[in-house]
Amino acid sequence: MTEHAAHTEASFDTRAAHAGAEWSDAASRTVPLYLTAGFRFDAFDTAAEHFATGAGFGYTRTGNPTVSALEQKLATLESGAEAVFLASGQAAVTTALLTLLSAGDHIVLSAHIYEGTRGLVFDNLSRLGITATLVDEISDPDAWRRATRRETRAYFAESIANARNDILDVALVAGVADEFGIPLVVDNTFATPALLRPIEHGAAIVVHSASKFLGGHGAALGGVIVDDGRFDGVTAGRLFPHLVERNASGAPSPWERHGGRARIAYARETVAPRFGATPSPFNAFLVGQGAETLGLRVRHQSAGALALATWLEEQPEVASVDYAGLPTHPDHDLAVRQLQGGFGSVFAFTLNGGEPAARAFVEAVQLVTHMTHLGDVRTLVLHPASTSHSGHAESERVRRGVLPGTLRLSIGIEDVDDLRRDLARALAAAGAASGSPAAVAGSGDRSTEEILA
Ligand SMILES: *Cc1c(COP(=O)(O)O)cnc(C)c1O
Repeated sequence: MTEHAAHTEASFDTRAAHAGAEWSDAASRTVPLYLTAGFRFDAFDTAAEHFATGAGFGYTRTGNPTVSALEQKLATLESGAEAVFLASGQAAVTTALLTLLSAGDHIVLSAHIYEGTRGLVFDNLSRLGITATLVDEISDPDAWRRATRRETRAYFAESIANARNDILDVALVAGVADEFGIPLVVDNTFATPALLRPIEHGAAIVVHSASKFLGGHGAALGGVIVDDGRFDGVTAGRLFPHLVERNASGAPSPWERHGGRARIAYARETVAPRFGATPSPFNAFLVGQGAETLGLRVRHQSAGALALATWLEEQPEVASVDYAGLPTHPDHDLAVRQLQGGFGSVFAFTLNGGEPAARAFVEAVQLVTHMTHLGDVRTLVLHPASTSHSGHAESERVRRGVLPGTLRLSIGIEDVDDLRRDLARALAAAGAASGSPAAVAGSGDRSTEEILA
């Protein structure tokens, strides 16, 4: 019986649940939004085949066409083989690490990483028996080698890090990881594939908070893992037995079934749906809409950031600007060599007047939005010392480039002259606050050396 035939003889409540479900095959130009928990099986055997091989779509936690379309887009933008989209950037980092690490394993991390990742590793994964070592001098290959142990199963770093704008030399660190046969995982949230594709430089896995630049509109959270598809079960199987050995019921291993894509297949089939950080198809739709304009936005935002960072560096209220696009930045040459099309649009600068100046600045902006987010089409400002980095001792904050007068900007797509006017107004307010008794009495005017002493 067709659905329509069933409706005509059905009662009111049955028709309410079923009627109107016959849609045409209209050729939507955008990716259709499949906002559904699951999918009808068109035959008895289709259901069995789906459960046996994963073919087709059954339930949105294990696959959804809107999500798949976005995964294909992000995999190709990152020059990877395959992608898995997740509910948030944090979910992507968690899923990537749980795909690689087991109890007893060890990971080497750049010390310059997102606070959420640091907390995940040291508060959560530590409870699962996974240990970690931080590397501060990320451009020193021997620092990575010294931190590596027999149990090390991954390196992790960010391509451009908050707050000092440290740039990761991807080829250099990937080369060291190769010496040990382990993958380098790069969080590419700040650079985006518009400026840098870490897989082209030797990284094995890329992760993102898609909530930031990939979406760009700030309307939805999401995260993605992109894999290079070059897992080698022959040489690396000893380190990752869960990818090459058959499970308790004797089913063929990910390596047997998926070859070089064993890692991402394991993430998709065995980690993501079990830990359950499934994205809403609606959020995948929104991120996909944003990702279409990624290159245009990021190049434009980067140009604006360079103009504003250059201007800020010349202002008397400003002590320093940490932006890799400026020749004064220690990683400038590496940034020029490795990034294409711009230096990114998130950077920090430090006011002379310490926290009172930073407070006055934040309270004076009108166009710039005060919030904890980045990569938005709108320009945002945040005071890291009292927010994102407040969980650290002051000496640790300062070591990581966060002083009492430091502010982080994420430059949007607005007209640069409008932004400069708003920043100039805020700088004037900061300058006035610096001369206040509060500023003189506060910690703001202490130097880095004094705080670290
Ligand atoms: C925001 C962010 C994350 C976490 O992403 P969510 O989408 O907020 O979960 C991870 N890494 C970096 C670099 C980020 O900026």
